[in-house]
Amino acid sequence: MFDSHVHTDFSGDSDMKIADAIKRADELGIGLVITDHMDINDYIKNRSGFDVDKFFEAYTKLRSDKLLLGIELGLREEAVERNVHLVNNYDFDFILGSTHAPYASKHEYEFFDAEVYVGKSKREAYEEYFRSMIRGVKENEYIDSLAHIDYIARYSRYDDKELYYNEYKPLIDEVLKEVALREKSMEISTRRIGNKTSADELMKIYKRFRELGGETVTIGSDGHYPGAIGANLKSGLEMAEACGLKPVYYKKRKIHFIK
Ligand SMILES: [Zn+2]
Ligand SMILES: [Zn+2]
Repeated sequence: MFDSHVHTDFSGDSDMKIADAIKRADELGIGLVITDHMDINDYIKNRSGFDVDKFFEAYTKLRSDKLLLGIELGLREEAVERNVHLVNNYDFDFILGSTHAPYASKHEYEFFDAEVYVGKSKREAYEEYFRSMIRGVKENEYIDSLAHIDYIARYSRYDDKELYYNEYKPLIDEVLKEVALREKSMEISTRRIGNKTSADELMKIYKRFRELGGETVTIGSDGHYPGAIGANLKSGLEMAEACGLKPVYYKKRKIHFIK
């Protein structure tokens, strides 16, 4: 089993040492795919990303069958060229694509920030999020897996943040269809599946992915500290199985089936 979404201290929002991540993974008997953040946004100061040369310099010696080196790339219009350059010039195992911010906005606010929701109904904000994701998938062909479709439900500022599939069905279906069409994977992010309502809604989404031709999922905790590594991976596997999707991980950009 692999946790295919783990951050270390190359990510601005994690101070996890890779040695601690490896120790935790060994305790759990799982492999790790490191996916530090590269979220280029020219409207945010000091957001040019981490030094990828240093990342490979530090981690290549630790690389093994159980420790793979990927990256989580923020999907935004202005970042496409620089993302493609990274993908083409470095030897990543895995490219995870993420919608963390409106795709083509000319401001600093991302879906993590309260400001992005000001003056918008939940419907307006969530529709903007999915439209961003659709462009992200269509305009970033290099990704292997699309991260955390429910990311906005972690951070939006509405009383009920939950992502209800039926409320956004046409847009969610378009995301899923575009991912399936390109034979990419969806990520099952285990962050929110401990909650029953969230798990039920996500189950509807992943079942629909299968119906629309999707076949594979990566499973990841999005862990930023040792205690989060591997959380709910088993539930993620069960969800994949219940939806008829094959759990996979990527090594040298090639797909490998789990189990
Ligand atoms: Zn993310
Ligand atoms: Zn992440």
